[in-house]
Amino acid sequence: PSPATVDFTRLARGFALYGQCLGGQPYGNGHINDTYVVNFDQAGAPVRYIFQRINNRVFKNVPALMDNIRRVTAHAASQAAKLGGGDVSRRALTLIPAHDGRPCLTDEHGGFWRCYLFIEKARTYDIVETPAHAREAARAFGNFQRLLTGLPGARLHETIPDFHNTRRRYENLMRAVNADPLNRAAAVRAEIDFARQNEPLVDVLAKLHASGEIPERVTHNDTKFNNVMLDDDTHTGVCVIDLDTVMPGLALHDFGDMVRSATNSAAEDEPDLSKVSMRMPVYEGLVEGYLAAAGDFLTGAERAHLALSGRVITFEIGLRFLTDHIEGDVYFKTKRPGHNLDRARNQFALVRDIDARQSEMESVAGRLFKEPAPPAPAP
Ligand code: ATP
Ligand code: MG
Ligand code: MG
Repeated sequence: PSPATVDFTRLARGFALYGQCLGGQPYGNGHINDTYVVNFDQAGAPVRYIFQRINNRVFKNVPALMDNIRRVTAHAASQAAKLGGGDVSRRALTLIPAHDGRPCLTDEHGGFWRCYLFIEKARTYDIVETPAHAREAARAFGNFQRLLTGLPGARLHETIPDFHNTRRRYENLMRAVNADPLNRAAAVRAEIDFARQNEPLVDVLAKLHASGEIPERVTHNDTKFNNVMLDDDTHTGVCVIDLDTVMPGLALHDFGDMVRSATNSAAEDEPDLSKVSMRMPVYEGLVEGYLAAAGDFLTGAERAHLALSGRVITFEIGLRFLTDHIEGDVYFKTKRPGHNLDRARNQFALVRDIDARQSEMESVAGRLFKEPAPPAPAP
């Protein structure tokens, strides 16, 4: 149904909210869910909420996804309260349950709706323009991981299995190349060769995990800049939002995707590859913010592989774009012929630049993170 047909008053009655619902409007520039701001009058005070219709074509198991979000938001809030430092309802998303206690509602069309407190005096930005932006985003994602280090209970649901199974992504490309349904492979030989040459990258993170050097954690899995709320006055990170992909994962998946999405000097689909490069000051901002929030709980191996994670995840997403191009643009939305190929070439160009600057990037973490001094020996 179009926005005009959403009956907010009726929906609002299903949530554990009080006061009079004054109606709602579409809000923000999310691409996945339908997001609305809904206004209430609560005993004379104006209060706003976010209502979201969850995209259940993309997310096949909404109850599992909402179970993850319910546990993660509750734990993050309790940890934020313990750590102190200001309004907890701004530092973690607050989910408003339905009257029956469930974390979301179903409407008469079979749609799933959830409700969050509206985070006031903060907003999201689409593009990382400065190192300070990068620092605040990485700090917010690092802090999110920190709040969730001790999440009690069972492992979270793996709502998108094999999301960062880079080996699987590589095999999917090779399968597409062999099937070559649209005869596109011959024209992208150079990109396929690049993928083959970089095959050793696909197992690095999985091996570090298998050897016990890097642990499984609770990760966000969509660490774009516009999933961080920045305070309107201080421009510091308030909290992270958009928790649909929260799952078990590796911290380096989240950091690597920050490097991929934030450091590129060009848009992810820029066809002019001379514009693509890794912005070192933005990378430094990411490392600085991330280590400030997460440095002391990350393992040495995690800290040592921050730069490499950017290369791996950028390569992984490049593999996915190239696969989709060869398969006929069946997964990612395209706006022009060759759009996915442009994206793949762009990501591979970024991999090349990261590769060329790997040692410079590796030195950043060492410079910005000083191991805490060992306790002084007793006199
Ligand atoms: P994406 O395309 O990033 O996957 P999405 O469709 O999943 O987005 P969200 O990122 O959850 O949607 O929300 C869309 C926008 O709504 C956000 O960018 C943010 O501006 C705004 N928003 C979401 N939740 C809140 C909140 N609790 N308080 C204030 N604004 C919010
Ligand atoms: Mg979002
Ligand atoms: Mg989203």
